[in-house]
Amino acid sequence: MLKAERYRHFVDYFSKHQPNPVTELHYGTPFQLLIAVILSAQCTDKRINQVSPAVFEKFTTPEELAASTPDEVFTYIRSVSYPNNKAKHLVGMAQMLVEQFNSEVPSDINDLQKLPGVGRKTANVIASVIYDLPAIAVDTHVFRVAGRIGLTTNARTPLAVEKQLTGYLPKPTLGIAHHWLILHGRYICLARSPKCEICPISWFCKYYERNNTEAALLKAEALKAKKAKDQKKKKQLNAISKELNKRSVDKDI
Ligand code: SF4
Repeated sequence: MLKAERYRHFVDYFSKHQPNPVTELHYGTPFQLLIAVILSAQCTDKRINQVSPAVFEKFTTPEELAASTPDEVFTYIRSVSYPNNKAKHLVGMAQMLVEQFNSEVPSDINDLQKLPGVGRKTANVIASVIYDLPAIAVDTHVFRVAGRIGLTTNARTPLAVEKQLTGYLPKPTLGIAHHWLILHGRYICLARSPKCEICPISWFCKYYERNNTEAALLKAEALKAKKAKDQKKKKQLNAISKELNKRSVDKDI
């Protein structure tokens, strides 16, 4: 199947079955989403949703967070991964928002990346979710699932994946495709053991095709038959060897 066809099937399938996917992070304002996404690096959305309400309640504005200290913020986020670094990033991010961006979350990807704790992935999430800009954030799920389906080829870095996806996906679907790939990776196309047997998109998935083509099935059958033949041969040799031993003992007697 051609790559362009896979893209077409991908967009058609998910547009029909998941027309309005949203981030699983809870937030109410752009500032809160920025906090939640910074916190979510290397951590689960579930965990972030457990700690974020207290953070949002304590620090309602960039000014309040900017006036705080990493030590104080740490006490609210101690159960997330890398709490020390994230506490520093949150305070630094709020200070920069106040000092350089008029306490507003910027929409420009380059401006967003100037904020402490904000890399390209976070910047793309904010740009697409808050500002509806044509950007796609590449996290571990997007990276893995896009590769397996065959939407990307030989893309070894998140930036390479982002470029290939951006090159093929229609612009209006970029932000939404991020959620499609994340949700599919989180619940079906799992990292260690993808649930291909129940996957509704296996019919256009490259990984599935590679592992389930007729040739692959024939090869598996041939391997199985060879194994059975080898075992039979081994049994026969063992029997012959036993018989020869027995005869030599009888002769000695
Ligand atoms: S068929 Fe398997 S590898 Fe392909 S997308 Fe589905 S779960 Fe992932």
